[in-house]
Amino acid sequence: MASNIGILGGTFNPIHFGHLRMAEALAESLQFDEVRFIPSANPPHKIEPKTSATDRAHMVKVAIEDNPLFKLDTIELERTGASYTIDTLISLREQLGKTTSLNLIMGSDAFVHLESWQHWEAIIEYCNIVLVQRPQAPTETQQPKLSKVLEQFLSEYYSDDPTALKDTPNGFVHMQAVTPLTISSTDIRARVNKQQSLRYLTPQSVIDTINTKQFYLS
Ligand code: ATP
Ligand code: MG
Repeated sequence: MASNIGILGGTFNPIHFGHLRMAEALAESLQFDEVRFIPSANPPHKIEPKTSATDRAHMVKVAIEDNPLFKLDTIELERTGASYTIDTLISLREQLGKTTSLNLIMGSDAFVHLESWQHWEAIIEYCNIVLVQRPQAPTETQQPKLSKVLEQFLSEYYSDDPTALKDTPNGFVHMQAVTPLTISSTDIRARVNKQQSLRYLTPQSVIDTINTKQFYLS
């Protein structure tokens, strides 16, 4: 059974090379045996995506099919109500046992809002957190600064040593440098709407799905 697992949650509306490249780079530098992509069914902090959770999960499936390390986990589609990460972590812990190193991957844009997550302080009891600096798109407003509480949280749990994570089931926060790709799902949806090319932003299998099912047209 895999013992060092990366967990990448997201709306994946749609999945793109920013997600995939980040997962690949982290799997390499942190020696993950597996990266689980976990689409959020009902993201608590977003307006309900127009594309169904099943369709978003399907795009993840076709995007990762050729990578033996990458797995789709539909655990959040099987629950009703808001998709809270803490509930997913509790289930994963039950499923994978106490000693598996679970590493929750978060872009910096997600981390600055961690305090608004359900039972956010309990999350670190179930996993390590791997932070990735996400490049800012030129159209985006400035990312908010870290709150004092999150700065304190960082200094309490931070480890600079990537090998420490592998042997530790939970309790560390680590920042890992990856080559930034300024790709976002928001931009991809806007491109479809303007009938612009998606080539080289997301796998061709995802582009084919978007075209066939006519996602994001308005
Ligand atoms: P949207 O624009 O709809 O919010 P998104 O591109 O931000 O979509 P999400 O599904 O919201 O994608 O992101 C899931 C996770 O992946 C988050 O932790 C986010 O920070 C991270 N992420 C998304 N795109 C990138 C990227 N280009 N580089 C690094 N991390 C990314
Ligand atoms: Mg996002």
